[in-house]
Amino acid sequence: MGKVLIIGAGGVGTVVAHKVAQNPDVFTEIVLASRTQSKCDAIAKAIGDSRIVTDRVDADKVDELVALFKKHKPDIVINVALPYQDLTIMDACLHCGVNYLDTANYEPLDEAKYEYKWQWAYRERFEQAGLTAILGCGFDPGVSGVYTAYAAKHYFKEMQYLDIVDCNAGNHGKAFATNFNPEINIREVTQKGKYYENGQWIETEPHEIHRPLTYPNIGPKESYLIYHEELESLVKNYPTLKRARFWMTFGQEYLTHLRVIQDIGMASIEPIMYNGMEIVPIQFLKAVLPNPGDLGKNYTGETSIGCRIRGIDKEGKELTYYVYNNCSHHAAYLETGAQGVSYTTGVPAMIGAMMFLTGKWNKPGVHNVEEFDPDPFMEQLNKQGLPWHEVFNGDIEL
Ligand code: NDP
Repeated sequence: MGKVLIIGAGGVGTVVAHKVAQNPDVFTEIVLASRTQSKCDAIAKAIGDSRIVTDRVDADKVDELVALFKKHKPDIVINVALPYQDLTIMDACLHCGVNYLDTANYEPLDEAKYEYKWQWAYRERFEQAGLTAILGCGFDPGVSGVYTAYAAKHYFKEMQYLDIVDCNAGNHGKAFATNFNPEINIREVTQKGKYYENGQWIETEPHEIHRPLTYPNIGPKESYLIYHEELESLVKNYPTLKRARFWMTFGQEYLTHLRVIQDIGMASIEPIMYNGMEIVPIQFLKAVLPNPGDLGKNYTGETSIGCRIRGIDKEGKELTYYVYNNCSHHAAYLETGAQGVSYTTGVPAMIGAMMFLTGKWNKPGVHNVEEFDPDPFMEQLNKQGLPWHEVFNGDIEL
């Protein structure tokens, strides 16, 4: 049906490669490229599918990307490198007529902002080129937006309150490690908190608002209000929302390590001079922390991510709705060699590309996931390893 080019060979790239290989009817040709080709080769070898072709690219350089796209002529590129590369890859897509999908919004190297403005600015150019760009198609952002679109389509006349709740109740046995790229992860969780209420964004100090929330099959876990990028598009696309927030669980040990890392300046994104060489502290820190892609082997426990929505249903009555997935780290590891956080990101990225190639999410322009029909995506989540569950008018805290 179509040729896919995956860029990025980290934890998420590993899962995407496994999942596209599992769906040969849709992904008839597969190319896996990254900065370090040997990582692509290792993934291809572990999967053992001779259709996977590997290559090397520095995705910060548009000319290298253009050469790669011309060589392989993919129908769609799945960008699971880092958020810094989103715009260069989108530029190359426009240049070569290739469709685009990613799992995290563009970030300039020197300022962590979490805004879609840079990528939304490509809307007209993608539209005019007849190309589709699907933004933020991991779990959160990604499935969180699809869940919200599904709730709006099937159950709500008016959605008023949205809480996205993200719990990782896993244990990898390390004193400190991040579950995805450490640089991106630490930047995300150390920023100020922010939520949307009555038409305004309200900023909080980092981790200022927190409370125990109860997660299915897990129980209560301290959950912290943080800003997360999908809130920006969701409040725009669902203007009836009076409030939208994002909660993530963190353990005390994790927060203590994080505080020390910040206090001693190791989380800084400002370059410093060291022995006559410019280094960015957080990039150096990444080099000494455990590789998130290697955490899977001894990872126990599960993740639970979902949307809790309150509002008025199609009949005009009050409705509280909770839709979620629980994912076992160990099951993810047995299937793909990667842990649950990479798995919950990589599976939706594959499904998004599948939606495009099967013509279900083919809409020229630059779109967030909730702008597409959620039904075929929800159907695939059940088939591809991320089954979801619903609770109507249950006893949920928010
Ligand atoms: P990793 O750091 O494990 O992997 C990133 C990969 O991208 C590495 O293979 C790296 O290559 C490659 N890469 C980095 N820079 C370049 C470049 N300039 N050119 C080519 N390749 C490059 O990250 P993860 O797999 O954990 O995460 C991947 C993405 O998924 C991130 O953008 C992250 O923000 C996103 N994510 C999204 C989530 C969601 O739910 N939406 C959740 C978790 C992650 P090398 O090995 O040479 O360094």
